Amino acid sequence: MTTPVRVRFCPSPTGSPHVGLVRTALFNWAFARHHGGQIVFRMEDTDKERSTRESYDAILELWRWLGLDWDEGVEVGGPHGPYLQSERGDIYRDVLDRLRASSYTYDCYCRNEEVDARRKAAGSKVQGYDGFCRDLSDEQRDAFVAEGRAPIVRFRMPDGSITWDDAVRGDITFETENVPDYALSRANGDPLYTLVNPVDDAMMQITHVLRGEDLLSSTPRQLALFEALVELGIATSVPVYGHLPYVMGQGNKKLSKRDPEAHALAYREQGFIPEGLLNYLALLGWSIAGDRDVFSMAEMVEAFDIKDVNPNPARFDLKKAEAINTAQMRLLSLDEITHRALPFLKEAGVVGDPVSDADAQLLELAMPLVGERINKLGEAVPMLGFLFVDEADFERDPDDAAKAFDEQGLAVVQAAHDALADVHEWSTASIEEALRVALIEGMELKPRVAFGAVRVAVSGKRVSPPLFESMELLGRDRSLARLRSALG
Ligand code: GLU
Ligand code: ZN
Repeated sequence: MTTPVRVRFCPSPTGSPHVGLVRTALFNWAFARHHGGQIVFRMEDTDKERSTRESYDAILELWRWLGLDWDEGVEVGGPHGPYLQSERGDIYRDVLDRLRASSYTYDCYCRNEEVDARRKAAGSKVQGYDGFCRDLSDEQRDAFVAEGRAPIVRFRMPDGSITWDDAVRGDITFETENVPDYALSRANGDPLYTLVNPVDDAMMQITHVLRGEDLLSSTPRQLALFEALVELGIATSVPVYGHLPYVMGQGNKKLSKRDPEAHALAYREQGFIPEGLLNYLALLGWSIAGDRDVFSMAEMVEAFDIKDVNPNPARFDLKKAEAINTAQMRLLSLDEITHRALPFLKEAGVVGDPVSDADAQLLELAMPLVGERINKLGEAVPMLGFLFVDEADFERDPDDAAKAFDEQGLAVVQAAHDALADVHEWSTASIEEALRVALIEGMELKPRVAFGAVRVAVSGKRVSPPLFESMELLGRDRSLARLRSALG
């Protein structure tokens, strides 16, 4: 590529950020980083009613957590600011004036119901504006103004067709007779999204607009406007457009804000790691190789070619997302997992904040038992809680307890207690030995049956870290006390 690549992140800060939005940002990021280009981050908060500060903060928080960094834009500044659309009103008004002074636009005085009535009377199947005000006479215009009507500014779509070479889809052509002249501003002069999005791309010198397929139908309008912006000296060139595939949810419907799996921040709350979420989102429309789906972002950047993006809709598969996260977790060192799990353990009150020396010591001994078993950081909480909890607060999962402590289960717990009461040198090996002798040999039980009830008695759950090691960490007194309390 000859000119340096410049792409943009341009979310609308409305609501909780959607995984599709993050996927789009990730592909822009990988594309820019692959080409040594720049990323501009602007906030498209033109819709004042729907834009919120919470959403803005959530987006930035998420981007930072994921490590999707940017070179220019909100928070960091740069030569093309401001980067909040709500602060660019003067810029848009100036561009609108210049467009209005040209023949690319015209003032339109129509009311929606008048347009509909004309369409109906003409038996037209085409929706939208009919071009009525394209060539108003001075008398007609004066009459509208005398009625007190305020005009909106409409873009005059050129005749013929518009074709672009989509970076993902190849040639796409629209006949402009199917693309009505569209509004650039409201009657009160406020610029509309149709204007501000391409104007910002022009003024921020964006070279590649990579965005969701849902925006594809607006591209012919934007390309036509871009020609005008180039002509007026506002844009230097027209960007390359590429439309990334839809992200589908269950039942082949687009993943919508209403689907719980759509909310990107929820993954962080559950304890996905950024490496895992990014790796999974990368697979929504791209792959590094046919036989490989676990990779780092450095590898993605190295390999990313926009031409390899698959235009077909990508299905969001939560199971697969979790499996990828697990695979990425396994690549972290135990120290790293401990470090990242700590906020979850603090938040849940498993350890204090700051962590006491005793808890820190216990954690160091306990993490090796669970590090390879947890698929998300949040799972450290239920896995480790029983080791840290005060005896007075220790509780068992009621379902697991009901299942485990039937007649046989209680007999097992009693036998385990009696065998362990004789063990004085308390180690994993001696605990295991005593329990095997008493339960497997003595009671002739299968290990699953034998140790299941003991596990629920001491850990409170059917699923726990390895039993004998856990009991060693729990200590002799607490282990025996829990076995006794299980007996009621
Ligand atoms: N702000 C738009 C959105 O969040 C993105 C528009 C674009 O990428 O051109 O849907
Ligand atoms: Zn009109």
